[in-house]
Amino acid sequence: DADLCAPLPVLGSDVRVPLVTGGEVTYAALDYAASAPALQRVWDDVAAYVPYYGSVHRGAGYLSQLSTDLFEQSRAVVADFLGCRADDEVVFTRSTTDSLNLLAAVLPAGTQVFVFETEHHAALLPWERAGDASVTYLSAPRTPEQAVASLDVALHGAPKGPKLVCVTGASNVTGELWPVRELAAAAHRHGARIVLDAAQLAPHRPVDIAALDVDWVAFSGHKLYAPFGTGVLAGRADWLREAEPYLAGGGATRTVARTAAGGIDVQWHTTVARHEAGSPNVIGAYAVASACKALREAGFDGLVAREQALLSALRAGLAAIPQVRVLSLFGEDSARVGVLSFTVAGWNSSHFAAALSAEYGIGVRDGLFCAHPLLRVLAGAAQDDPGECGAPDAAPGEASLNAIRVSFGAGTPEEHIDRFLSAVRTLIRDGAAWSYRAENGRCVP
Ligand code: PMP
Repeated sequence: DADLCAPLPVLGSDVRVPLVTGGEVTYAALDYAASAPALQRVWDDVAAYVPYYGSVHRGAGYLSQLSTDLFEQSRAVVADFLGCRADDEVVFTRSTTDSLNLLAAVLPAGTQVFVFETEHHAALLPWERAGDASVTYLSAPRTPEQAVASLDVALHGAPKGPKLVCVTGASNVTGELWPVRELAAAAHRHGARIVLDAAQLAPHRPVDIAALDVDWVAFSGHKLYAPFGTGVLAGRADWLREAEPYLAGGGATRTVARTAAGGIDVQWHTTVARHEAGSPNVIGAYAVASACKALREAGFDGLVAREQALLSALRAGLAAIPQVRVLSLFGEDSARVGVLSFTVAGWNSSHFAAALSAEYGIGVRDGLFCAHPLLRVLAGAAQDDPGECGAPDAAPGEASLNAIRVSFGAGTPEEHIDRFLSAVRTLIRDGAAWSYRAENGRCVP
């Protein structure tokens, strides 16, 4: 199809892995939602820069100046990628988790936070730990319209004062797209602000802060083909500037002096540096900027067309297998990115995923995907504490909240989807060649 772009070159596409049944095979990475492989372009850019690596904002030498320039240019590239408004700030963090915890740390006194129970733990949990914020947990909606209506009702009944809504753009479990623009409009109608968890959205769709009219966006480099330890929080400057620094340390301060009384007086920066104490991770930031440029240049139209073609094949293949149940909140036909979770009747999900790896060289993820309340909703029943995220928690055939997640992206060749579907069919028909057991929280042959 002329409209589809070719898979973008990624590292690791020729990695060979041993099979428990003998021989070896090229690894099929179908766990992009956890961490995507590095784009070749990102790796090339990083490799070309590393010899010139130097400290950022902390040196007079040429390489320090170069690194400082690249760091600040990277910030501008990310701002452009996200369609930031003129007065938005881009803070480099470690990850989405770090970005959302940073935002939680700068909430004005008495902020009321509204969050759906279906969020990833990184978006669900930071708020209650933050100062005196109060949190309203909204029940899982069963349609996008219900999500907007339920937020509307909750905000309508809320007392005056600062409010923040936190929503995901695309679910890390079902891949389903959330009605971000409509949720943002609802938030703003009631004077609330909104932060978008774009960890799963940004790798698959253009995210435009101004067009979506969200106040902040958070995402992770390692899910955006830039696995060098950097995340982003971008958006409104005021709450960031008015709050205490997230981390205390060098780089966040303007002046530090002893007071007459023998203490320490600190004047913190009022710019973005306020929340970037410590030596910045310039390689990580540069890699994120490189990934942003690469995705822009490849063009989201072609990337999305290709993703949807692979997703259609995947959905059709799974729909033809009666034992497979695809998980969804908004209905099986709902709009999704290339992320999909399912269970197989009669199978423990951890064992199934272990067999896909050991017998077919296919890397998926099983577990609860750091979204335990959502998995409970999708399982349709409240159950006992399922234990650690990702840990196998039931014997084969036993009822379990665990599911299997298959996820892909810009580097995925069609062959990986074909191999996956054929492996699922064969496993269900013939059973696993080996038996699997839990060892140190992992399923092994
Ligand atoms: N939100 C969502 C929707 C995610 O999928 C993830 C990662 N699985 C996170 C937040 C947290 O991202 P990180 O682990 O990079 O901090």
